Amino acid sequence: MADTTPSDDPCDDTDRLQALQRYGILDTPMEPAYDELADLAGYICEAPVALISLLDNQRQWFKAARGFALRETPLNESVCRYAIRQSGVFIVPDLAQDPRFAHYAIVTQKNPLRFYAGAPLVTPDGFVLGTLCVLDHRPRELSAKVQDLLSALARQVIRLLELKRANDRQGQMLVELEAARHQMDVLAHTDVLTGLANRRSFTDRLRQEWALLQRGHEPACLLMMDLDHFKRVNDVYGHHVGDQALQLFATLCRDVFRAADVLGRWGGEEFLALLPATGLDQAQVVAERVHAALAAHPLPGIEPALVLSVSMGLTLFDPLRPLDITLRLLDSALYTAKREGRSRTVVV
Ligand code: GH3
Ligand code: MG
Ligand code: MG
Repeated sequence: MADTTPSDDPCDDTDRLQALQRYGILDTPMEPAYDELADLAGYICEAPVALISLLDNQRQWFKAARGFALRETPLNESVCRYAIRQSGVFIVPDLAQDPRFAHYAIVTQKNPLRFYAGAPLVTPDGFVLGTLCVLDHRPRELSAKVQDLLSALARQVIRLLELKRANDRQGQMLVELEAARHQMDVLAHTDVLTGLANRRSFTDRLRQEWALLQRGHEPACLLMMDLDHFKRVNDVYGHHVGDQALQLFATLCRDVFRAADVLGRWGGEEFLALLPATGLDQAQVVAERVHAALAAHPLPGIEPALVLSVSMGLTLFDPLRPLDITLRLLDSALYTAKREGRSRTVVV
């Protein structure tokens, strides 16, 4: 029975405390599996008090406390902190006769506890988290056989803790997997440069809307937008400025369109917008707002000012017309807008 002094307090032990933290067990609710192991310990040792005691920084905290009212007690009133320093079962036949413990509240209280036996809870990597211990109101001993049984139960406590840790890890992995899957899903549907829907995702949404329209949903409009003279932006200012211009256009569109509208990057500098439940008049107003937004927002940091413009084809999304025909019509409207001088919208 090694004595301790405050300077080599067994609980002033960072690695051991980190090992304890890894189990995420402190301050969790009581659980029948642990209660039952404590009950078994009390039964086998014929002791009225049985605890699964985990030694934290400043306290010992009980995962199970049978025959004991408190859930934790201060470390400086802990017998277990001595028990975790040795490999076998730590026995104090009479706490009242031991100067290390005689002043403890459990010993001086009414109906004091006098006997202590604690088996260390040793992790597979050799850290002692606490004890499975029993206490009695009378001084006594514990046979070698029963000590072995108490140690076996302590190993069962560790197995429960290991199982919990494995379950926690698996749960965490599932959460991470789900997050990764979600991210992949977002990436699969998003254009990396602009953050808008990519062509595949936009096409899916178009098909959905087409089906809804065939079932009599409110009319929708489609806008095809193509930045004007964009090749020149790249040629004069470089590809990275071209990229910034595409991003600026996407940002402006996010402001102009409603949340219910769907924006997609159709190709290089070509975008499509689906405006559900929107008539042609309303859609034309939106198109004008896009022209105005571009005119009002030159590309930042470029002198002299680089003002982008866009040409658009606009059509009512006709459910009686095949989708590819609608897209071809839009394309020709866009082409007409280009031919007629760009920076305008042509309705078909
Ligand atoms: P128009 O007014 O007739 O539309 O002329 P334009 O120059 O915009 O048309 P054109 O189709 O000749 O050129 C489109 C340019 O868009 C060519 C291509 O290099 C550029 N482009 C396509 N995708 C990207 C991109 O992701 N980043 C950058 N920086 N440029 C792109
Ligand atoms: Mg263009
Ligand atoms: Mg183009």
